[in-house]
Amino acid sequence: MSLFPRRHLKAARLLQNMDESVKPCDNFYQYACGGWLERHVIPETSSRHSVFDILRDKLEIVLKGQLGEIFSVGQCGLQYFGERFSDRKCLCVLSSVLTKTINVCRTMQNYLTWQLIIDRVNSLSRRFKDARARYRKTLYGTTVEDAWWRECVRYVQSSMENAVGALYVRETFAGESKRMVSAFGPKTRVIGTIILIALHHFKAMAIKEHIGYPDHILQESNQKLDQEYAHLNFSEEHYFENILENLKSEAHKSLKKLREPVDPDLWIIGAAVVNAFYSPNRNQIVFPAGILQPPFFSKHQHQALNFGGIGMVIGHEITHGFDDNGRNFDKDGNMLNWWSNYSADHFKEQSQCMVQQYGNFNWKLAGGQNISGISTLGENIADNGGVRQAYKAYLKWVEMEGEEPRLPGLDMDHKQLFFLNFAQVWCGAYRPEYASQSIKTDSHSPLEYRVLGSLQNFEAFSEAFQCQKGSPMNPELKCRVW
Ligand SMILES: [Zn+2]
Repeated sequence: MSLFPRRHLKAARLLQNMDESVKPCDNFYQYACGGWLERHVIPETSSRHSVFDILRDKLEIVLKGQLGEIFSVGQCGLQYFGERFSDRKCLCVLSSVLTKTINVCRTMQNYLTWQLIIDRVNSLSRRFKDARARYRKTLYGTTVEDAWWRECVRYVQSSMENAVGALYVRETFAGESKRMVSAFGPKTRVIGTIILIALHHFKAMAIKEHIGYPDHILQESNQKLDQEYAHLNFSEEHYFENILENLKSEAHKSLKKLREPVDPDLWIIGAAVVNAFYSPNRNQIVFPAGILQPPFFSKHQHQALNFGGIGMVIGHEITHGFDDNGRNFDKDGNMLNWWSNYSADHFKEQSQCMVQQYGNFNWKLAGGQNISGISTLGENIADNGGVRQAYKAYLKWVEMEGEEPRLPGLDMDHKQLFFLNFAQVWCGAYRPEYASQSIKTDSHSPLEYRVLGSLQNFEAFSEAFQCQKGSPMNPELKCRVW
């Protein structure tokens, strides 16, 4: 028996995540995500569990199915390791690489050695992994290691992005180009609308967008893709050397770019990724295929939800071009001051307001530390700008296309739905160890404050939920950079 009538299924996800005992004007994050937080337990293997993280877990399962046909999962080539390659030999290879290439002061050398080794522990034997477990427990609060196949999938995905991207896109978007085009049509419209409406600015207009995946990865008998891996000398017998081979090839690729003109068409990330990016020195935004799915986007879900989801993500990335870092680059991605003194002063003043606002958020889970308003400024500017632009674009969309039918099963209007989905893509929980760590190292504010901070500043939110002036979600003082 189903809990919800079939036509209410779409509302079910939204409803289950909510806690309607909390008033939206008191704490919108609890209101939108309270039910989600109640129903989810952070897995022993994770430092954080969120809507984002669940999508990433699922994507890894898709890749496991795809890659499983190529490598036998659970072994990842490691069966060769114990027999043929001792730890001592591994470390010898590493240290010879380091002494050859590094002739710097001891601290730097130690730091680089440490970075190289900690990154290689995954390819070493149990002894090294056990040593790392205690370190991870302290830093992330995780007590159990991820399933080995996940490590394998992540490794192959990060070192062969385009090959894995091709497998992923073939599997999830089911190939034929016609269906692709119809799936991407509305999306491209969302992006176009946001760029057009949100920022009437020459730099925004010059932004190059990459959506889904680079076309070439789906071509049959794909020479470009083959070339990418042609020089790699893998051997079935030598697991650890294969990994060094990958490292060498990555370094080589990076070095080759030095003194070459920037290639604006290059994709800076693979398709099988649940994230989105802005590259300041390309003035490029990227939305890999992995993020083009619910709750962010679906052609079957209401546009109010799409604009609150992927629309906000697009607005966020565009705004990075105008945050405290991105603003130092011009429309072609060159580092150049194109600001008038007046605008620059105004920007700094408004930024200072946000530094104060977020700096006052006290995160109990992180031992009562306050967020650093300064180190999260760029992301907070992007969050605030992103939701504003997506909202404006949604209003414009309604003006052009007309009001959508109401979502059955949920007594909310479209403006409210927009904000609800915006908040729900950020539902998530942290382990306290990771809270204490990430508050010092993450350039993003904790999920909860990403929602609270940006909605407290947004008048349209308070109008949508009729929050009284002075209520927690509608403070008198509002910060606005964009
Ligand atoms: Zn960002």
